[in-house]
Amino acid sequence: MVENERKDERTGDSGGKSPKKLRVLLRTFGCQMNEYDSELVRSILGSAGYGFVSDELEADVVLLNTCSVRENAHRKVYGNIHEIRHRRKGRPVVIGILGCMATGLRKELLEDKSLALDLVAGPDSYKRLPEMLDEVLQHHLRGFDVTLSEFETYADVYPTRKDGVNAWVAVMRGCNNFCSFCIVPFTRGRERSRSVANIIDEVKRLVDEGFKQVTLLGQNVNSYHHDGRGFASLLEDVSCVKGIERVRFTSPHPKDFPESLIQVLADNPKVCKQVHLPLQAGNDRVLEVMNRHYTGKEFVELVGRLRKACPTLALSTDVIVGFPTETDAEFEDTMRVMKEVCFDNAFMFKYSVRPNTKAAREMKDDVPEAKKTERIVRLNMMQTDISLQKNKALVGQVQRVMMEETGKIKGGSVFGRNDANKVVTLPYGNFVPGQMVDVRIIRATPHQLKGELNSPLN
Ligand code: SF4
Repeated sequence: MVENERKDERTGDSGGKSPKKLRVLLRTFGCQMNEYDSELVRSILGSAGYGFVSDELEADVVLLNTCSVRENAHRKVYGNIHEIRHRRKGRPVVIGILGCMATGLRKELLEDKSLALDLVAGPDSYKRLPEMLDEVLQHHLRGFDVTLSEFETYADVYPTRKDGVNAWVAVMRGCNNFCSFCIVPFTRGRERSRSVANIIDEVKRLVDEGFKQVTLLGQNVNSYHHDGRGFASLLEDVSCVKGIERVRFTSPHPKDFPESLIQVLADNPKVCKQVHLPLQAGNDRVLEVMNRHYTGKEFVELVGRLRKACPTLALSTDVIVGFPTETDAEFEDTMRVMKEVCFDNAFMFKYSVRPNTKAAREMKDDVPEAKKTERIVRLNMMQTDISLQKNKALVGQVQRVMMEETGKIKGGSVFGRNDANKVVTLPYGNFVPGQMVDVRIIRATPHQLKGELNSPLN
């Protein structure tokens, strides 16, 4: 349904003589999957005739694609809504909530009168958005759909992406793992995968649009399976698409790493030698209450197998400190595993309650805040040092870098990423995004590499 000519008092469009396209401000919070979903929403609403703006003062509809995973996510979203209304000084605007908060906090959202939401749509309801907005704009009804689907993969929607060198491609949605701290299985439903053929069609189209790298996305990406095909064979197929130079994926679960996947990582030159491997904790009892399905020892063994097959592999991870009941001694196991594995990079979080998760329902958040802080500070200090040592080891080496930001100012700096996904900055030059250049690393910090061109550009 094309709705580019409608007008309604709720939009502030008072029926002027020239009908205009309704304008949507779409703001995204949270993870990469949400970014991807916003690209789907852009496509769906774009096809229905909506335009997009970046300033809330110009918008007729504001949609916030929300996250429930990080602490304070809902406070941030609530703050955003109040700020938007304040900035508009009473000028009407339709406001809707999409994403994980829509399914996770539906009751609170609808009952909170101060939010006065017009629309609430969960991650599996985006195809209904034009119809739901219609209900709001034309019939003054509230749009509400947070149904989770066992089948929806949006295989028939081609996302509207921003230009760049990397395109995110969701190959599966949902999660069956039920880690006790995580809300995702409740907000995004059960696992389902797209067909290989459908994914390959999308990747071919991306190449035609100029993308050189794809990152395959999924909440538990390596449990991808469709018609007897698993993730290892999907990676092979994607890497065979002519024009694709690099393939990445995120986030895998450590329990889903068969030898076939390790071999593809090791042998396929287009599959980047980089894995984000969430550890979460190093202690076996804590891992068990987290419902992670591996022990600290099994995790370290997996890293050993990965590094044996692929010695240059870069590893990053996620860690939670102060999970309910975690003792000092159990935290030391996390320190020990982190030290043993030597991740290139780590995202570390203090545990905080996520409503409706198993941990929130059944466990008391009993590690004092000061203790959590003390633990995360120690972990951070150790990891910063490890990251620095890892990066320093690259100084003097020549790395293949895919340029991303090529800058406009002479004398400024530009950057790209090496195979390990590390940011490499270098002096301004005649680069174009997506170009592969050989860079000699001359300096390292914990989070960045600095380099110079190793050979003149041809
Ligand atoms: S694997 Fe665990 S942490 Fe990751 S999305 Fe699934 S339940 Fe959440």
